[in-house]
Parts: sequence; C-alpha cells; structure tokens
Amino acid sequence: MRVVVIVGGVGGARFLLGVKTALGLPAIGEGAAPHEITAIVNNGDDVWLHGLRICPDLDTCMYTLGGGIDTERGWGRVGETWVVKDELAAYGADPDWFGLGDKDIATHLIRTRMLRAGYPLSAVTEALCDRWRPGVRLLPTTDDRVETHVVVDDPDSGERRAIHFQEWWVRHHAALPAHSIVAVGAEEANPAPGVAEAITDADVVLLAPSNPVVSIGTVLAVPGVRTALAKTEARVVGVSPIVQDRPVRGMADACLAAIGVATTAEAVGRHYGARPDGLLDGWLVHTTDSAEVPGVRVRAVPLLMSSVDATADMARAAFDLAGVSVE
Ligand code: GDP
Ligand code: CA
Repeated sequence: MRVVVIVGGVGGARFLLGVKTALGLPAIGEGAAPHEITAIVNNGDDVWLHGLRICPDLDTCMYTLGGGIDTERGWGRVGETWVVKDELAAYGADPDWFGLGDKDIATHLIRTRMLRAGYPLSAVTEALCDRWRPGVRLLPTTDDRVETHVVVDDPDSGERRAIHFQEWWVRHHAALPAHSIVAVGAEEANPAPGVAEAITDADVVLLAPSNPVVSIGTVLAVPGVRTALAKTEARVVGVSPIVQDRPVRGMADACLAAIGVATTAEAVGRHYGARPDGLLDGWLVHTTDSAEVPGVRVRAVPLLMSSVDATADMARAAFDLAGVSVE
C-alpha cells in the first residue's frame, strides 16, 4: 500500500511513528514491509540563521524516525551540547533566541554546503536521510523558498510589520497578536520532485495532527499540492490536533485565531472542508469531542499520542475510516 502523510514537525513526526507501527514497520529506522510511506513535510518554518539553512520540521521528522531526537524536548538531537550557541552569545551575535545545538549544526553545515553547490533541498534531504534511515520517504513540500511570516505590531516601534514565523513562535512565544499569517513564496512554488506523484498514486492520504495553519496550511498553500489532492482517487483522512478545544501541545490556538478559525476539532474539520472543494473524506476527533463537518465522515477515537502503541491505534483508525485494509 502507498501511504502519503502530510506533516509538520513534532506532531507530524510522532504521528509517523504510529503510522509505521500500524503498517508493521519498526517505529524507528528501516524494516521490510510491503508498504511505502511518503511524508510530505512543511517548509514554512525554514530559515537562514548565522549563514546556515535550518529546516526545523524536516529535521524533527528525520531525527525522530531515525532515533536521534531528544524525545523530551521533541526537537533537536539527544545528548546535545551548546558550545557554539554560547560562543555566538559571547560575540553578541543575533539572533540569540534560536537554539542551535552543536550536533544539530553539523546537519545544517552539510545542508548549506550542498544547497550552495546547487543541489535542491529534496536531494539534500535524501542525502541526509542516508545516515538517518527514517524508513519513510521524507520529501520537502517544495524545493523553492517558502517561509511563513506573521504580521504583528512591533512591540518597540508599534509599527505593523511582518516577522519570520520562527521569530514570532520561538522569540515571542506566539504572544504578539497576529494580524495575519502568510506563506511567503508558496503561491509561486512548485511541489518538490515526487510530491504530486506520491499524492496522485497514493492508496490513502493522511493529514497528521499537525498545526492546521503553519504546518498543514503551508503545505497546502503550494498550488501543485492542492491540484494533486483534488486529482487523487485516494481517500483523504485528517486527524485533529485539537482536543477538548485546546491544542494538545504548543500554541496552534494563536495561529487559528489569526485566520479566524475557532480552536475546536469541528472548526478545524470545517476549515479543511469536504472534498471535492475542500480536502477531507474523513475526520478523526478525540473521544471527548464531537464534530459535524458537512460531507465528511467523522469518527471519535482516542487521539492522544501518549505512546507509540496509542499512536498506532490512531493510524489504524485513520486507515479504517479511509476504508483501506493494512493487514
Ligand atoms: P511543530 O511543527 O513542531 O509545531 O509540530 P506539528 O505542526 O507537526 O504539530 C503540532 C501540533 O501537534 C499541535 O497543534 C498539537 O496540538 C498537536 N499534537 C501534539 N501532540 C498531540 C497528541 O498527542 N494528539 C493530538 N491529537 N495532537 C497532538
Ligand atoms: Ca513546525
């Protein structure tokens, strides 16, 4: 079976562990199974820092599935050290609010060197995955530059301006009210090689319980992705990241507020909408939630990724709702 999962960072990576398990693959690393999983990963968080190209969501997926993630933090490398970060701070180098660990920096050095040599991000990602063997084909959504920006009132000058999503999320903890969120470059971007084909050839497409605005929303902002989703004969099933009217983790409520969508499983389901105009055939919500999404089959199952087994059950429920058998 060919499975496509559209993902962001931590929520997406954890969901992929469950998808692999449900398909009989080891959660971490590679294994033999008659299934092919392609993850289409958000690029909107990507940023240049200290001359290095950082791709947070791709790296979170790669480290998580390859066994290198710091599982407590959810991002970055396990056993990380911070010598370079401290040295940069000693120089007063800006920005000082983004944590780049020493081990992580090696990834960014290789990525940046390859990009500068002319390789597209998709080829760079494949090369990095040669080491991590995530057991899933990790594709950036696009090889073109797409970066999410957030329009805010500058806390110092009071002027309205757009800042990089990372500055809003990491530096300001999404506490500055967002007037709008824009995926800069997305409308002109083309899907990376393999992305559109993976969607049109898929047997099932899953939307991870990732941030609906700045993870899933940014992937969908690339027109070729939407076209492929409209064309595919695969059923599309989404998993709600909102449980009991709150994001399970993080600040997705601030992003939803910026686009005028309520922080409820129902509102997010309606925001994605029913095919063919919208995205969904099926929508999974948590057992304590209910949702009515016109034209979409909604089912309530436990949606807390408290263990890989619990997450695998979520993936099984998604396959079941899509009407595909994984046995
Ligand atoms: P990021 O890029 O690291 O922010 O990660 P994602 O966009 O992939 O995922 C973030 C979303 O995952 C948040 O909106 C959370 O609500 C959601 N999330 C995290 N843990 C869980 C969980 O256990 N269950 C569900 N349903 N959603 C979760
Ligand atoms: Ca992210």
